[in-house]
Amino acid sequence: RGVSSKEVRQTFTEFFHELYQHKIVKSSTVRPRGDTSLLFVNAGMNQFKPIFLGTADPRSEMASYRRVVNSQKCVRAGGKHNDLEDVGRDVYHHTFFEMLGNWSFGDYFKEEACGMAWRLLTEVYGIPSERLYVSYFAGDAISGLPADEETRHIWLSIGVPADHLLPFGMRDNFWEMGETGPCGPCTEIHYDHIGGRNAALLVNADSPDVVEIWNLVFMQYNREADHSLRFLPQFSVDTGMGLERLVSVLQGQRSNYNTDLFTPLLSAIQQCAKCPEYSGRTGDADVGRVDMAYRAVADHVRTLSVCIADGVYPGMSGAELVLRRILRRAVRFSAEVLQAPEGSLAGLVPTVAQILGDSYPELYKETGRIMDIINENEAQFLSSLKLGRRVIERTLQRLEEGDSVFPANVAWSLHRNLGFPVDLISLMLEEQGMCVDQQSLDELAVENNTCQTQNSDGQNLVHLDLHSLARLQTDQVPHTDDLPKYGYSLGP
Ligand code: ATP
Ligand code: MG
Ligand code: MG
Ligand code: MG
Repeated sequence: RGVSSKEVRQTFTEFFHELYQHKIVKSSTVRPRGDTSLLFVNAGMNQFKPIFLGTADPRSEMASYRRVVNSQKCVRAGGKHNDLEDVGRDVYHHTFFEMLGNWSFGDYFKEEACGMAWRLLTEVYGIPSERLYVSYFAGDAISGLPADEETRHIWLSIGVPADHLLPFGMRDNFWEMGETGPCGPCTEIHYDHIGGRNAALLVNADSPDVVEIWNLVFMQYNREADHSLRFLPQFSVDTGMGLERLVSVLQGQRSNYNTDLFTPLLSAIQQCAKCPEYSGRTGDADVGRVDMAYRAVADHVRTLSVCIADGVYPGMSGAELVLRRILRRAVRFSAEVLQAPEGSLAGLVPTVAQILGDSYPELYKETGRIMDIINENEAQFLSSLKLGRRVIERTLQRLEEGDSVFPANVAWSLHRNLGFPVDLISLMLEEQGMCVDQQSLDELAVENNTCQTQNSDGQNLVHLDLHSLARLQTDQVPHTDDLPKYGYSLGP
């Protein structure tokens, strides 16, 4: 198996600290501090946003940072970066993952950043360079942004062959933190897991065979509220590499779930599940229902543990609502697909702490609290889940043969009366080859829940009850504290 995930993490920070004088900074919590543009911390750079913008308090320690390295806890389950729907289906997107990153704040720029990254991957980690592909920004006519030829030349001079250098547009090679915030062209390093002749064609193609591992962003702009780009006061480097993906490369695995970051969790699930073992096969075609449930439960229990340890509890708005949704999905996979008894989810938390606790000691400290909160929330949802399952079965029996559209009013009632997240209903139907009548469901949501009233200042207020808040897209759901600002109030 080779190198452990702990060593991989440590090697990263030591490389930048010892060879290139980067200051080692702790991961921030996954709850963004004082940044309402985010639901969760979605990248290592979040905590440094004031430095990029030039708004850091000059008396703060942060203002003195020039070179920094860290390993950041990230959650991508809501807002601009939302991977929840992919989790379990593929083997390299998680809702919680660790991002290894190095930064230059107005210090070194493109050439040094590319050189350091290449040296670390090929000389220190020993990844064969012929397995690596590099993408760079192709420019964008609509935004008037030029192609990043400079970066292409840097890679050529480092020795990356031209046929391993690929241009991509805004979606893949212009990184943005959110709807607003620091952004810039990026260059990314991808790993070819199969050594295939057509690997170049699989870059940025959602293939498990060629996976993006490291993103080097050249921060030059801020995306303003009116969507325009403003130059930042100084140019910076912001990099992010998914630890789980890097470890899968270094442990010779094609799935993140087959690395030491996940295998103890999968074994622990196996011990309480009455279902077949995890097959561990990769590839989109053979993603079986059981394998997907194993992966989703393992993923979700990590996310729940990390979030609760950082003070984000399952709840009714913003990040809390997202966490509630993740919890209910986990309960469903665990109880229905894996046939695990009540309490099994919480029973996995000590294993999460064993795997991650050395790096994030709050997981050890909070183990008991995390377990209690998971158990409480599981108990709350389990009886609704059983009832809802019966409703679904009965409705399916009554449908005409060949009819694959589930009636919206039943889905609405599952959501409204039994607290089923809408995405979970879709998932449960999908397993039976069914889908919900989404348009009618959206109409029902609007009809049933929104009513406009005016407050004493004559301002329009949209009253949404708890269930319609749950229905909103996660990126529209405001933080509880900001509800008044958004014109929401929690209805009766
Ligand atoms: P992808 O295209 O695979 O969705 P991304 O382009 O959205 O990744 P970036 O925003 O560039 O990812 O983040 C930097 C790095 O973080 C990625 O290169 C990848 O290694 C890692 N990463 C991003 N999203 C996830 C995730 N959901 N789970 C695990 N690792 C991730
Ligand atoms: Mg992504
Ligand atoms: Mg990408
Ligand atoms: Mg990327």
